[in-house]
Amino acid sequence: MTATDTEIRTLKFFVNGEWRDGGADLHPVTNPSTGEVIARVPYANDDEIDCVAVAAHSAFLKWREVPVVDRVQVLYRYKDLLEKNLEQVARILTTENGKTLDDSKGSVRRAIQMVEVACGMPSLMMGQSLENVSKGIDCHSIRQPLGVCAGISPFNFPAMVPMWMYPFAIACGNSFILKPSEKVPLTPTRTAELLQEAGLPDGVYNLVHGGKTAVDALIRHPLVRAISFVGSTPVAKYVYETSAAHGKRVQALGGAKNHLVVMPDANPGKAVEAIMSSAFGAAGERCLAGSVLVAVGDSSPVLDLLLEKTRSLRVGDGLAAGSEMGPLVSAQHRKKVVGYIEKGVAEGAEPLCDGRTHGAEGDDGFFIGPTIFDHVRPGMTIAREEIFGPVLSIIRVKDLDEAIALVNGSPFGNTTSIYTGDGKTAREYAARIEVGMVGVNMGVAAPMAFFPFSGWKQSFFGDLHAHGRDAVAFYTEQKVIMTRWF
Ligand code: NAD
Repeated sequence: MTATDTEIRTLKFFVNGEWRDGGADLHPVTNPSTGEVIARVPYANDDEIDCVAVAAHSAFLKWREVPVVDRVQVLYRYKDLLEKNLEQVARILTTENGKTLDDSKGSVRRAIQMVEVACGMPSLMMGQSLENVSKGIDCHSIRQPLGVCAGISPFNFPAMVPMWMYPFAIACGNSFILKPSEKVPLTPTRTAELLQEAGLPDGVYNLVHGGKTAVDALIRHPLVRAISFVGSTPVAKYVYETSAAHGKRVQALGGAKNHLVVMPDANPGKAVEAIMSSAFGAAGERCLAGSVLVAVGDSSPVLDLLLEKTRSLRVGDGLAAGSEMGPLVSAQHRKKVVGYIEKGVAEGAEPLCDGRTHGAEGDDGFFIGPTIFDHVRPGMTIAREEIFGPVLSIIRVKDLDEAIALVNGSPFGNTTSIYTGDGKTAREYAARIEVGMVGVNMGVAAPMAFFPFSGWKQSFFGDLHAHGRDAVAFYTEQKVIMTRWF
């Protein structure tokens, strides 16, 4: 496609069941594999956010009266439409995000699982009851929707992360406003069209685009009752604090620095497969990406094989057959990741494999190859900060205790995996580690839709986690009713 101005699509907001033009504040959306501008996205201002919040609130007043068994019928149809359009949605996702098509398909599959679980809302939303709590008095509890809920999502999972939120919120009887990442607005546009086709009443789901202005307006708006945020730690912390100050219920999932612990008894072939997928899948642009490999004792069989496989990883356009790793999302992000590699070298780490040899600034796409640093020390910048690129730092430690102390010393606590052939070691690691999601011989230990998803420490601000039963609790208010008849 040649992206001339006349061919470039300008995206719209989806408000109250209508596709509406945004204002003149338009920003380009690029294909990271080619650098081409593929769309323009309008950024919402305060008035536009007010308009969508008012529409979502009046839709909520009707939607909450619809029985839950009827509400989930829309989600059954949505699931069917997502299944039928999975390939198309995944292609759109790869075109704006860069990850490989297989990876995109996997994430859309995960998104569909969220809808499947939300279809179980008639059971999930049930309260409790107990007769005769006092003489002649019965007691029961119910869950009721909150009102207008808003979601703010990051660039790396434009189908899945928003679906951690809105299928649950809507099934609970709320209305919803999504403000996805301005870098990847095309996937949420397509998934909103499918939700419209599924027959959701006007205004129950709304889509707006933009950056900080739109987020701040949502947080401040008196009709918005709850904020679900997923993104980097500084913004998560800001959104958590500001939303709480405005009286909102809030869950804010932040960034990460994930450790992969390799024991000397790990199966080299299986461990390397898992480490490669964790560190280099989606070009390291995952909150669950392994970023520090903690080699316990003599782990040379794993490290030797890892280096050999990493050197032959095929980097290319995510849509091209055979590509195992796509580009980074933007030229700016590539520059940031290159900056981290430069810092690693400057601070004395040893690059065994240097991703800067793939692609360069000024190229059309935003490619970079996988990078492995050896002899990294815990105090180095590349060992401490989230890089969000395909850069793996090896830190050598003598035993499991030292590995656990290292991982628990991180301010983040999103995910970690241990590779070992010994059940006792794995059990001890899982018990002692201060991290929210733990894998044993896993690549990416991402909890499925029916479990909760969240890290600890600086990786999460809030109480109730994403999806699973936590989502039902987050998107509902509990009421306890005591009854006596004379
Ligand atoms: P980001 O924090 O830059 O943006 C996330 C969202 O916040 C976007 O919608 C963006 O428009 C908005 N935003 C950005 N700056 C803002 C500001 N100053 N005020 C208000 N809103 C603002 O994150 P990103 O680069 O899109 O995504 C990558 C980050 O997300 C990584 O740190 C990654 O670890 C994290 N992430 C975490 C999880 C998780 O489950 N913990 C999942 C996916 C991604």
